[in-house]
Amino acid sequence: MKYFPLTHEQLVQLTDKVPTPFYLYDEKAIRENMKKFTKAFSIFPVFREYYAVKACPNPYILKILASEGCGADCSSLPELMLSAMSGIKGKHVMFTSNETPAEEFKYAYANGNIINLDDITHIPFLKEALGGKLPDTICFRYNPGPLKHGCNSIIGSPEEAKYGLTREQMIEAYRICKEEGVKHFGLHTMVASNELNPAFFVDTAKLVFELAAEVQEKTGVRIEFVDLGGGLGIPYKPDQKAIDYDEVAKGIRAEYDRVVVPAGLDPLEIYWECGRPITGPYGYLIAKAVHEKHIYREYIGLDSCMADLMRPGMYGAYHEITVSGKENAPKDQVYDVVGSLCENCDKFAVQRQLPKIDMGDILIIHDAGAHGRAMGFNYNGKLRCGEVLLRPDGKVVEIRRRETINDLFATLDLDGVESFN
Ligand SMILES: *Cc1c(COP(=O)(O)O)cnc(C)c1O
Repeated sequence: MKYFPLTHEQLVQLTDKVPTPFYLYDEKAIRENMKKFTKAFSIFPVFREYYAVKACPNPYILKILASEGCGADCSSLPELMLSAMSGIKGKHVMFTSNETPAEEFKYAYANGNIINLDDITHIPFLKEALGGKLPDTICFRYNPGPLKHGCNSIIGSPEEAKYGLTREQMIEAYRICKEEGVKHFGLHTMVASNELNPAFFVDTAKLVFELAAEVQEKTGVRIEFVDLGGGLGIPYKPDQKAIDYDEVAKGIRAEYDRVVVPAGLDPLEIYWECGRPITGPYGYLIAKAVHEKHIYREYIGLDSCMADLMRPGMYGAYHEITVSGKENAPKDQVYDVVGSLCENCDKFAVQRQLPKIDMGDILIIHDAGAHGRAMGFNYNGKLRCGEVLLRPDGKVVEIRRRETINDLFATLDLDGVESFN
């Protein structure tokens, strides 16, 4: 059974104070996992996790991760600003964007963040944005194209992915930047999403290490860090097993010893920019059953919807659901658990075996701590829910209030519409 940090009684008490739906994050579990992750990769001379801010863009969460040694991986100006306000600064911020506006490059440069370019044409674009010079440090995103197989459907096959430079362009890009006087170089790739097989990441690291060696050979540029992207998966389904961080780290270390050390690139700094495994399992969407209907199927309607968690509707993704207080009851019912959106894909679970659900029951939707609330939207006039943090001492802090109708209407000129005819 999936872990949940509160007893039924504690959760009932919490929902009396904070009306459902809301997200709950477990600080203690986030910290423990981060320590485990860091320990596994401490077998490298230098290691850093740059947390993918898009997964859970809340400064309280970012501050927790920063205190565990994390940097931040950003892809927009607001994400860069959130990192700065969480105290994550300078080289601890990686700016991995694509189709980037010039102002965002300027902001990242002014703040000393590492700029990770998505294309070879972004070299002159960046130079112009910065008034005719390039930063001291530049990283490039590598798209291995046909060299990398077995990628899953969320991110797609590298050849069809819009990201990164080809192998030939990578070599050329470092050559150009060296001539332009850039002093420090990194190499990034991200070709997986929600992948649970350690061998996949070892293989990716091997590709990247070999390319770093080739870059040095062909251009004389010494790559100082590699960023292995994100993509480490989590076991959403009950029959899946969590990925073993030690196995991933040791496998990559073997390739490091085989490729990096003989190439004279040791010490090569190893970075990740994971989101999902860092907060995913430690966040929960809490909602109440408010309707039941009995037609061709049995439906349970929640006070939440796909606007709070779109992964099931968007990817058909599985999220485990438990009914608080009925953890040990027989799962003798089959339900579609649905939200209130006028879209039939708005289903948290389809034909799921669950205990008998009564109106007012509290449902816990698991593994929602990454790409959960962050992906939400306002379609159908839905107001997105708030977020609370369970502190290690058991206290609960509201870290984001739920949206109001005024928030939703804030972008409209309501005075203008009165006189409009
Ligand atoms: C989304 C993303 C990540 C994080 O991915 P996870 O699957 O959450 O680990 C990291 N880097 C980039 C560039 C991304 O787009």
